[in-house]
Amino acid sequence: MCVIGGGVTGAGIARDLSLRGLSVLLLDKGDWGGGTSGASSWMIHGGPRYLEFDWDTTRLSCEDAGHIVTIARHMVYRVVFIIPILPHDKNNIERMETAMEVYDRFQPLKKAHPHVRLTAEEARQVEPGLSPDLVGAVTMEEWGVDPHRLVFANVQDAVAHGARALNHTRVTELLRDGGSVIGVRYRGADGASSEARAKVVVNAAGPWVPEVSRLAGTDVRLRPAKGIHIVYPHRISNFSISAESIDGRDLLLVSHAGFTLLGTTDDDFYGDLDSVDVLEDEVDYLLQAFERVFPAIRDYRPSRTTTGVRPTLFKWRRYEDELSRRYRVIDHAADGVGGFVTIAGGKLSMYRLMAEETSDAVCRKLGHQAPCTTASLPLPGHASELEPAPELARRHRIPALAAMKVQSRHGSLSDDVLKEAREGRIVCRCEPLTEAELAHAARHEQVRSLADAFRRVGLASGPCAGAACVMRAAEVIGRELDWSASQRFGAVREFVAGAWLGRAPVLVHAGWAQEELALGALRGLRV
Ligand SMILES: Cc1cc2nc3c(=O)[nH]c(=O)nc-3n(C[C@H](O)[C@H](O)[C@H](O)COP(=O)(O)OP(=O)(O)OC[C@H]3O[C@@H](n4cnc5c(N)ncnc54)[C@H](O)[C@@H]3O)c2cc1C
Repeated sequence: MCVIGGGVTGAGIARDLSLRGLSVLLLDKGDWGGGTSGASSWMIHGGPRYLEFDWDTTRLSCEDAGHIVTIARHMVYRVVFIIPILPHDKNNIERMETAMEVYDRFQPLKKAHPHVRLTAEEARQVEPGLSPDLVGAVTMEEWGVDPHRLVFANVQDAVAHGARALNHTRVTELLRDGGSVIGVRYRGADGASSEARAKVVVNAAGPWVPEVSRLAGTDVRLRPAKGIHIVYPHRISNFSISAESIDGRDLLLVSHAGFTLLGTTDDDFYGDLDSVDVLEDEVDYLLQAFERVFPAIRDYRPSRTTTGVRPTLFKWRRYEDELSRRYRVIDHAADGVGGFVTIAGGKLSMYRLMAEETSDAVCRKLGHQAPCTTASLPLPGHASELEPAPELARRHRIPALAAMKVQSRHGSLSDDVLKEAREGRIVCRCEPLTEAELAHAARHEQVRSLADAFRRVGLASGPCAGAACVMRAAEVIGRELDWSASQRFGAVREFVAGAWLGRAPVLVHAGWAQEELALGALRGLRV
């Protein structure tokens, strides 16, 4: 099999097919989870708002979220929302509580707790930043996950079961025999072209699905929708908070372990999928909505933005926000193209189910009989209970917070990861990343650039945004990958230039000046 696309969907399919005993090649033109998956809100959730127009998506998401929690317990954490109600909101407190009572029926599917209704006073007591105009609030519980790690754990497990997985490898052509697809031509990180034959090629390219399907001479229509987030490199509230935007959409401020995501927009996208910019207007749209419920929001300093494009199924005459998050598995034999299957649409929260149905379709084509096991078979590192982080920290002479971070990525494998380098060395103090974990990522986790290290181990994701750590990180990775001094500086310059695109939309005047100065200094670096 060849699977095109190493987002959460493709990685999930590669794992599923490998576990069923098939031989799999997984290819991604960028890095694992570097497309839409990494730009998501990092939530494994049911989506209560879909209840209004797509009950099945909420149910299936909740069911699959329950499976993901079961197989990756070390990676997921509870995210508790306060949904504040203000005068003139589209839902008053009674309507909102009724909606949550319905959603409560789904919560046990994903091992989450039912809602609680709070008076305005109670809500402001637990979340003092909320507006004094508050009428009341309800709570809602979801799960958070680092999507980059979730994708990579699927890749790791696929490889452990015999798959070959190549990042920075773009599929440039589909090999054809008459109408049928019989393999792929791809260009690797070194620029060399190769071919691989496959009995079935799976198109799991997320928003790039139409582009890849055109290579097979067939057409899959999506209605791609762009979303952005503002990222704060710390928590700015005790709880996650929802807010209504000026046009009545539900927006979320999501408090993850050590940072906050504020998002997201949802707009039809017609541009170049490989170059998606964040506009200052989009940033203002989000801040305007949150200023109403959390008046001090503009006093906090964001460090960057993220953006991605949803691979939503095509539908005419609907607002983006009301589009279903359903998915479709398409066997193109029906259009006269044999050996080619597409998976389109869906959500991160039900990637496992999407992978199962796609793998079922592949197995049917091959007459291969093997059941899906991904709902119960743990991902690498899974443990229902981990060693207390302070003990792990003491043994490896690192701060307890750094140990916790390693555990959130490697779970029960953390001890092995930390044994790999000199004890106690920290690459970044603000986002406590150990030298051991970074070296391990370069050695065993296909990290080829500093941006890959950002995705794999959170390099430069803290308040310093890389200023205090990228040079040091380049040395650690460079030692592992044999980089010369000029390659190390080159890697730093490339990272800073890439990060700038995400930082510019949230910089104000002094911030711009500061960044220009830092960039100028870096450009001046010569070996
Ligand atoms: C702003 C935003 C917030 C979201 N938040 C959530 C959330 O909190 N929870 C949730 O459940 N869902 C969320 N979603 C939806 C979810 O992120 C996506 O549905 C999901 O991540 C899509 O995964 P994917 O693997 O299909 O696509 P992608 O992650 O985009 O993966 C496709 C991959 O294909 C690769 N590719 C493309 N062309 C080629 C080629 N020619 N050769 C090789 N590789 C190729 C790309 O490099 C890419 O990595 C959000 C979406 C957005 C935009």
